[in-house]
Amino acid sequence: MSNQQYSFFHSVEKSFDKAAKFTKWDKGLLEQIKACNSIYSMRFPVKMDDGRIEVIEAYRVQHSQHKTPCKGGIRFSDEVNQDEVMALASLMTYKCAIVNVPFGGAKGGIRINPRNHSSYELEKITRRYTAELVKKNFIGPGIDVPAPDYGTGEREMAWIVDTYQSLKPGEIDAAGCVTGKPISQGGVNGRREATGLGVFFGVREVCSMKDVMGKLGLETGIKGKRVIVQGLGNVGYHTAKFFRENGAILVGLAEYEGALYNADGLNEEDVFQYRKKTGSILNFPGATSIAHSAEALEMDCDILIPAALENVVNGDNAPRIKAKIIAEAANGPLTPEADEVFASKGVLVIPDMYLNAGGVTVSYFEWLKNLSHVRYGRMEKRFTENMNSHILSQIEELSGKQVGQKEKQFIMHGPDEIDLVHSGLEETMISATREIMDIWKNNPAIPDMRTAAYVCAINKVATSYTELGIFP
Ligand code: NAD
Repeated sequence: MSNQQYSFFHSVEKSFDKAAKFTKWDKGLLEQIKACNSIYSMRFPVKMDDGRIEVIEAYRVQHSQHKTPCKGGIRFSDEVNQDEVMALASLMTYKCAIVNVPFGGAKGGIRINPRNHSSYELEKITRRYTAELVKKNFIGPGIDVPAPDYGTGEREMAWIVDTYQSLKPGEIDAAGCVTGKPISQGGVNGRREATGLGVFFGVREVCSMKDVMGKLGLETGIKGKRVIVQGLGNVGYHTAKFFRENGAILVGLAEYEGALYNADGLNEEDVFQYRKKTGSILNFPGATSIAHSAEALEMDCDILIPAALENVVNGDNAPRIKAKIIAEAANGPLTPEADEVFASKGVLVIPDMYLNAGGVTVSYFEWLKNLSHVRYGRMEKRFTENMNSHILSQIEELSGKQVGQKEKQFIMHGPDEIDLVHSGLEETMISATREIMDIWKNNPAIPDMRTAAYVCAINKVATSYTELGIFP
């Protein structure tokens, strides 16, 4: 199917319908859950550095308000369109439900290629977009809370919070109008690497399941697994980092201009620095360069991690993919046709909908921090350290033995914000993985893990709707 015919939203609906058959909910309620509640499509003019006026096309879609605020990132890409934003907004609803983050789903998109704009132009576009959202009541700590996504990061989130605060003077919880902010602007430690770390925690949990690995013909554990990552942006870079640091071998890294393969393993930081210096990933010393980036997806590996954009694995290339596990770090990297190929080949697809939920989970922690106006760990850190120190000295006194200095430091350490955020994320990803796997194991007719994840999401959203009493 060509890109033009392909509807990402339709493919999400298709996956939803496939899963809905395994639930007991009323047809009308399922229709309501599937629908996008509010769609704001906008056009606004921005004067560029050369004096030219450009009309900017942008969107914000709120898929569901079964819980508020709505939550979802803002994407800057010249491929943005309403269908894509609707699909991404619905995935956010299901994602939040699975990881028990009490938000409805939303997503935003601005149709620009950020590489073609100066930072001054990007700032003007971002601030005007925020002002449009404020005018229509599409942003606010209790309404709709954006975050980073493809093509955006801390810098854009800082512009958004500043614009919002200047238009809403005196609003005490204004910092909670957007997440993924720099720490100095109300961000939380650990947000930057959250999605990649969540991908790692989710895959690690799946790889620890003996029965699942047995069926794939793989050993349990991450150590020694050969991994290919597509996209060296926020999600891909951090995912690659956590896999390598935990003993996986990064045999392949792909960017849009090309890819690298090295059976002995690559270091993502060295490749990142090389690309920054030379402007391209290609010709990195000691690795085989692949000019046509998409071919890297078909190279030999155990785990393939698409972490760039949607629709990169489809009915055409899926039969040639050698990985036993596909971990969807990006949103929607596989089409439904690819899903069918992998289900028949016995390849395990760990679905985007929950696997990349690390970002929204830590965004939730950031939002809670903003509403409580206090950083995590501030109240308990010293208390815990004093208590641990007291317990240790009692143990040493009673046993007549001394605990080593390194161990002592480890035991005494009271939690910093980053410790609590990482621990909350780890707990979230482990619980979600187990919950989805249990649904799958308890209903052998469910064909794949994505369908099991949708069943999990549908049950939670439907329960929430029925508890609201709208559907007696
Ligand atoms: P990003 O802009 O930081 O990085 C994306 C990278 O992919 C860029 O380096 C880009 O050059 C590269 N890329 C683009 N096309 C490519 C191609 N055809 N082949 C190889 N590389 C290509 O974006 P991100 O925030 O890392 O988001 C990546 C994906 O993860 C998106 O699907 C996004 O929706 C999803 N996601 C992001 C977050 C988050 O917290 N940032 C959370 C959940 C899901």
